[in-house]
Amino acid sequence: MRNVKTWLSLLVLLFTLAACGRPPIDLPLEITETPTIEKTPTQQVEPADIIFHNGTIITIERSQPTAEAVAIRGQLIQAVGTEEEILAYKGTDTLLVDLQGYTLMPGFEDGHTHYTRNKWGEGVPLETLMDDLLAFGLTSIAEMHSTDEYIDFMLEAEKNNEIDVRLNIFGEYNCGFLENGKSIFCPSWYLDNPPILDPTHMVRIPGVKIFLDGAGGNRGCPYMSFKWPDNIADYWPGIWETCSYPYGDLYLTEDELTAVLQDIQDRGYRASLHVMGDAGLDVALNAIEKVLNGQSNLIYRHQIQHSSTLRPDQIDRYVQLNILAQVPGYFNTCEAEELEAMYPEDYYTWDTTRFALPGLGVHTYYGGDCAGRQDIHKVGSALNPIWGLYGLVTRKQFREDMTICEPPEWVAKYKISVEQALEMVTIEPAYAVSMEDYIGSVKPGKFADLIILSDNPLTMNPDDLYKLTVWMTMVNGTMKYCAPGKEAYCPSASQVKVAQTGSPTAAPQMTQIKMNCDKRGESPILLSSEDFVQTYIKWEAKTTDQLIEFMASERQSIFVNGEQVDSNISHGEIEKIEGSDTVIVKSMFDVGILKPGEYEIRTILTFDHKITDGFDWYGPGTQYPTIEGTCTVVIEK
Ligand SMILES: [Zn+2]
Repeated sequence: MRNVKTWLSLLVLLFTLAACGRPPIDLPLEITETPTIEKTPTQQVEPADIIFHNGTIITIERSQPTAEAVAIRGQLIQAVGTEEEILAYKGTDTLLVDLQGYTLMPGFEDGHTHYTRNKWGEGVPLETLMDDLLAFGLTSIAEMHSTDEYIDFMLEAEKNNEIDVRLNIFGEYNCGFLENGKSIFCPSWYLDNPPILDPTHMVRIPGVKIFLDGAGGNRGCPYMSFKWPDNIADYWPGIWETCSYPYGDLYLTEDELTAVLQDIQDRGYRASLHVMGDAGLDVALNAIEKVLNGQSNLIYRHQIQHSSTLRPDQIDRYVQLNILAQVPGYFNTCEAEELEAMYPEDYYTWDTTRFALPGLGVHTYYGGDCAGRQDIHKVGSALNPIWGLYGLVTRKQFREDMTICEPPEWVAKYKISVEQALEMVTIEPAYAVSMEDYIGSVKPGKFADLIILSDNPLTMNPDDLYKLTVWMTMVNGTMKYCAPGKEAYCPSASQVKVAQTGSPTAAPQMTQIKMNCDKRGESPILLSSEDFVQTYIKWEAKTTDQLIEFMASERQSIFVNGEQVDSNISHGEIEKIEGSDTVIVKSMFDVGILKPGEYEIRTILTFDHKITDGFDWYGPGTQYPTIEGTCTVVIEK
């Protein structure tokens, strides 16, 4: 057996607890909107079902940015205002939740993800997917392309009341990759069905995704106005195997795109275009302008995903055409120098031009673009909107070793204010799917999709934004998620699904200290009683499929001083080893928080069935039925 596999090590996740517990803030409130229900001394108001009070309510309503309390009745927000105004809605059966100064805001929305679609495709249960989203405070997402099978499954699940988070699913026009250099027509849903736009539905089908240019790998390359430089393969190995020289790959001509857009628009759908290269954007903007034919895009809401290489001269067209734009939150600042070296002249600065759009009044929304291939709890997780928020506001990025990459000037100049970034994770994704009148802000008459946060993003140090955690998630007036230990903020306990220990909201996994538990490592390993202990094993295989099969069939047993403990398993990102044909992944196993003392930790891996990694066979009836490792850990006082 090769050494890399038996490299069983300890991974320690130091819980960084966000500083919190501030007193209620006495804000001079300017209430310009009266609650929907007008009160006179003689008039009885309908009592609220739930009142959140004594907190900071971030409303995302510019006319009334903050408030102290909010009343919920049924599925809807009943009233928003001062402590005194809202407590007037208290009836004998009203559930009062004292926020103790903490912050409540609209649920997060992700305008571009692939998480539920991909994970559903891997067989992950729907309930797990819903719980994953709720634990990150996500109350609405847009699945940015799909198959008929996925859509049918979700529509059926809605009938069975199994959808906790609003799913806005985009059908598909073409596949997101090329075959023999040609785009493949693979439409889903929209040719046979009208859009589903009813705002009361949990599953809606508001749009159709079109891939217009490449994205690397078997997808070809972004379509550029300039020649990809000769040295590009130094940074992007193997690029010329799939990429068309010298400008990249355009999937559809302008005429083809215009015809497709016209058809999609005529069917009542909005189009969502994947475009990464600036020459691709020219084609997209021309085609959109043609089908709008002088009408406002705010009627049709066609939108462009990524806009990764946006020329400054194209900004005006976004403004004039009222293009809706998705942008990522967490920019790859750590690769800034690489981008500078990759692109000819100063074209690399076009990578951040898109972040100017929200400041120019363009409807710009956050989309994490989570493919679900990485551990969703790791630093910079594309599923966790809090990383998006941190990235938008600071433009900083964490390295693997948890040091921070500071943005160079061309990245830093597009820092976005917290207020604007909050709109990009709430009301703007709602706007992109025409739900802005129903969700995305705390306003009377809207659905009560709300979250409670561990701190106030408007007043905390922006550099600490990533430490925010979600304590409660409510959808349609029902508390759907409650963080461990925060039951006081989600007291309708019968309705609440309390998080499992080890779930993401316990704290962000900020300080990862990897300690070898094998001969090369120190022994014993010294830790503190605040450390969350995990063991891990790295696995190497010939193909990604083999790794996926390995991850699906491995089972862990963890023994602490001989006694078995409950343990969750999570997986890292599948990585390709440079210069070889092998791929690796890291599987992590929770041990938990240990009291001071000395422990022998033993990890045993078994397999459901016989598997191979392309080198050896493992599991029942093979030479390696189990893999195991032991190490000694001392927890200091
Ligand atoms: Zn995507």
